[in-house]
Amino acid sequence: MRLKLVNIFIIFCFIIPFTASMYINIITAFAGTSAPVLSLPEQSPAAGSYGNNAANGTPSQELPEPPQKESNIIELNDEKLSNGSVSGDAIVPENLLDESVIIKVFDRSTNEVVEMTLHDYVICAVAGEMPATFELEALKAQAVAARTFTVSHLKSSCSSNAAAHVCTYHGCCQAFVSVDRMKKNWGAQFEEKLAKITAAVEQTDSLVMLYNDLPITVFYFSTSNGYTDACQDVFVKNLPYYKSVESPGEETASGYYSYVKLSYKEFADTLFSKLGIAVSENDIENSVSITRTDGGRVKSISFNGKSVKGTQIRTAFGLKSADFHLTFLEDYILIEVYGYGHGVGMSQLGANYMAKQGNTFCDILNHYYINVDIKSYM
Ligand SMILES: [Zn+2]
Repeated sequence: MRLKLVNIFIIFCFIIPFTASMYINIITAFAGTSAPVLSLPEQSPAAGSYGNNAANGTPSQELPEPPQKESNIIELNDEKLSNGSVSGDAIVPENLLDESVIIKVFDRSTNEVVEMTLHDYVICAVAGEMPATFELEALKAQAVAARTFTVSHLKSSCSSNAAAHVCTYHGCCQAFVSVDRMKKNWGAQFEEKLAKITAAVEQTDSLVMLYNDLPITVFYFSTSNGYTDACQDVFVKNLPYYKSVESPGEETASGYYSYVKLSYKEFADTLFSKLGIAVSENDIENSVSITRTDGGRVKSISFNGKSVKGTQIRTAFGLKSADFHLTFLEDYILIEVYGYGHGVGMSQLGANYMAKQGNTFCDILNHYYINVDIKSYM
């Protein structure tokens, strides 16, 4: 595999034995006095607010201090990666490769760039992106998605800070929940939930999704309307591993259905102020025309021939998804919305439903990401 990963560092002379007590060790390490000192954010993620990368999700969280684990650091260069292993003086742990990769994380709350292991980062990302109460196989699918997102950024950087690979803001990179925050959120269930997420991360250690031997550009989201969508129907780019697929089992989720009610004037005013579309409030119903994606989301919508994307309407009106339906009533316009998130890639609720049906994390990922290889980044 030809990954030109720059700014990856690998620890040598540091091998963590992987034992059955690993989870306890991790919990102890996080909680112990020698562990990273974590600060407590003010707000906890709202229940059910798990979300998706770069669309919606939990608020950014405080970041731990970098783990004080490495004794020596060397740069992991392209040659070493292309050889499939690190040669020379470097020693790659036989287990938990994620522990050997140091990434740079931009903490949006302190404006600092800190280093931490990929292992620890993915745990905090999964904790921010998916409830620990979800099925283990769903959490494992989330771990692979979060790891893939991170590894795909190792050759570039976070768009918020060029000195970091990723940041802690879900709207830019991925959600992030510090371990101290987990303690506060989970209380008596802290150890159990952290152990479960840690298991999801370690049981998928180093696994990422590849297409043509490169990490894919990962998208995932909270709740579908029953279908996902091709990338180019939602975002600009056409990525071949995103197609519209069924995503059943989410109809009873709290995020599945929502609605907004606006007066005709409010609707017209929003169209003009947010999107520059001028339409008389008396002319909205007759002037509107909608085209939809294969997954049922609004692809484009026009008023008097002036067209915008469904995603632009979603943003302008603060809708949970672009699968919205307008009903013109006497006093107001009812906007009914199905699903939560952009609709590209893995639906997290759908992943949990698939896991409940007995599917593995590979089944889940292969369902939502078409023709990808699930392999070790090494
Ligand atoms: Zn970022």
